[in-house]
Amino acid sequence: MIYDEFYAVARHALKNHAGADGLQITAITPSAVGPVVHWTAPLLARERQRKAMGVVGVVAGPVILDLLVRTLAARWRRGAPYCPQDWDQQLSVRYRRVFGRQTPATGPGWSWLWEGGAQAIVASGVPRNFKTTDMKEKYGAARWYHQAEEDCEYVDDIIDAVEHLSGFICEDCGKPGKIRRGSWIRCLCELHAKGRPGS
Ligand SMILES: [Zn+2]
Repeated sequence: MIYDEFYAVARHALKNHAGADGLQITAITPSAVGPVVHWTAPLLARERQRKAMGVVGVVAGPVILDLLVRTLAARWRRGAPYCPQDWDQQLSVRYRRVFGRQTPATGPGWSWLWEGGAQAIVASGVPRNFKTTDMKEKYGAARWYHQAEEDCEYVDDIIDAVEHLSGFICEDCGKPGKIRRGSWIRCLCELHAKGRPGS
């Protein structure tokens, strides 16, 4: 359940992060926003991890895990995953300062991830004139386009974490998933992949 999903997603999402192998859940406690996973990973680096060859930095492990905690709390809030048909409209209304008039143009499996990202931004402070311009899927992962009056590192980190985590969560149902290549690329769980191999 939430315990297995936390480990399954975290294991893959942090596979290039130094110190992630010491990750452990210490408790799961109820809260107003859903069951909160508490974790410890004493050796997990707090800086961005640079990809071996790359220009693109992967956001720091603790930021990814904090977002995963929020995502799973939202997903298990009602005791079992529940996603209303108009989830995208509801999110847009509930987090208007973050999403503006935009609604996520993705599958419902990422609804809790979008919600976790919005919550994280609200908790840290929505930057002045922050504006979401588009939320969609591209090459199997989420893309969250935004503008703000000033550069804001924590918001960039949260948004990068949403995009990163989406590569490990099924876009159809929200279970742990992986990027599948085929006639089109999507992130799906075993059930929804219907036999398409993961990359
Ligand atoms: Zn699925």
